[in-house]
Amino acid sequence: MDSDEFRCRGKEMVEYICNYMENIPTRRVTPNVEPGYLRKILPDEAPEYPEDWEAIMADVDAKIMPGVTHWQHPRFHAYFPSGNSYPSILGDMLSAGIGCIGFSWAASPVCTELETIVVDWLGKAIGLPDEFLALKKGSRGGGVIQTCASECVLVTMLAARAQALKRLKQQHPFVEEGVLLSKLMAYCSREAHSCVEKAAMICFVKLRILEPDEKSALRGQTLSEAMEEDEAAGLIPFFVSTTLGTTSCCSFDNLPEIGSVCKRFPCVWLHVDAAYAGNALICPELKYLLKGVEYADSFNTNPNKWLLVNFDCSTMWVRDRIRLTSALVVDPLYLKHGYSDSSIDYRHWGVPLSRRFRSLKLWFVLRSYGISGLRKYIRHHIALAQRFERCVLQDRRFEVCNEVKLGLVCFRLKGADKLNEKLLSNINESGKLHMVPAHVNDKYVIRFCAVAQNATEEDIDHAWDVITEFAAELLEAQAV
Ligand code: PLP
Repeated sequence: MDSDEFRCRGKEMVEYICNYMENIPTRRVTPNVEPGYLRKILPDEAPEYPEDWEAIMADVDAKIMPGVTHWQHPRFHAYFPSGNSYPSILGDMLSAGIGCIGFSWAASPVCTELETIVVDWLGKAIGLPDEFLALKKGSRGGGVIQTCASECVLVTMLAARAQALKRLKQQHPFVEEGVLLSKLMAYCSREAHSCVEKAAMICFVKLRILEPDEKSALRGQTLSEAMEEDEAAGLIPFFVSTTLGTTSCCSFDNLPEIGSVCKRFPCVWLHVDAAYAGNALICPELKYLLKGVEYADSFNTNPNKWLLVNFDCSTMWVRDRIRLTSALVVDPLYLKHGYSDSSIDYRHWGVPLSRRFRSLKLWFVLRSYGISGLRKYIRHHIALAQRFERCVLQDRRFEVCNEVKLGLVCFRLKGADKLNEKLLSNINESGKLHMVPAHVNDKYVIRFCAVAQNATEEDIDHAWDVITEFAAELLEAQAV
């Protein structure tokens, strides 16, 4: 493809994407396919000879689109949706076009510098303490864009582990590192995302999963008792992962309590995973949810969940960048450059070496909407969630199972878990809506996330009509 054809095909692709977005409500939210559907209709081998663009695009319609779950559908209420926007898509397109790999400042200076600046912008908008901002005078902290929240948790756990082992080796110079490693204990709540468990598996450390309170929040007392008990048993607490906005029900761990417990254990690294909810903290009326962040060593949120930035864009801040990077530095000659001492090299901030120019799309979005536009977007979704919550509360057959602070409502039919499982599977099979389940206080609940990019009040009302229609059918069948 030469530049002339790219010009033409590029315009067609923009047109294709616009049509897709404009007509998405006419599609089923979920695809109606069985596992292996694509294997049956694609050839066994890559084509030996070039194919026509038209033929490829025809297959997009005929073979690819039928297997897509439409995450940008206004009736996609599953998981935490993946926000998107035209400025973000265009920013990412430019990033793909420039195609640089910004692993160090020298590898592409603007990649590093824009990332530092826009992550600082976002950190300020969220209200993170100044120590987390790279460009504040005298700051030792800073921010970075990672691929996903799981990576943020992993990387901070790796840093905490390195810090703990370094200290232990000083105290016990003749003890094998493997022995010291076997003593390390990390902590999180049962409501924490499974990525904390995965990080502990990768880091080869023990993880103690603690019971939250009746509001699904981890409390300081529970953590304190666990840490003291472990210390008495010869174990070494080194990492606590808390969540602001848990995946199952959007609960908030009690950060002020947990923070003051961690303060008593000076070598413990306190991480705050706010993958979804952190985005909402750009709204002044929600900043109270950030209370206790002054105790944190690191914080992450995913603009690709709720700030109109397409995947991947997970922003992470640390209070002390040296404590992070000292766990991850390897320095072969071919990666060194003349400004290593005076610039940020993001290759030391995570697992991959090669990094995309992800800050471009965040920059495009922050400038195109402004923080005020993004606040409006978040408030709109919160209002939609409250509208849905009212619908549930007004129907005596149903109950709301979480405290609706942001865009997630957990609800269920009063009755057995099995009934709710059936209700959800009937709705999902219809393709009219898409939701996923969770356990809240040991009950099976249906999660309704009102954060779909283009969802309107009509979509929420429609969703409630669909839910009550299926519920009525089910209850009737049960009564017979
Ligand atoms: N943490 C929380 C609180 C989440 O809700 C999620 C996913 O929804 C994750 C972590 C994992 O996110 P990612 O897919 O970015 O790794």
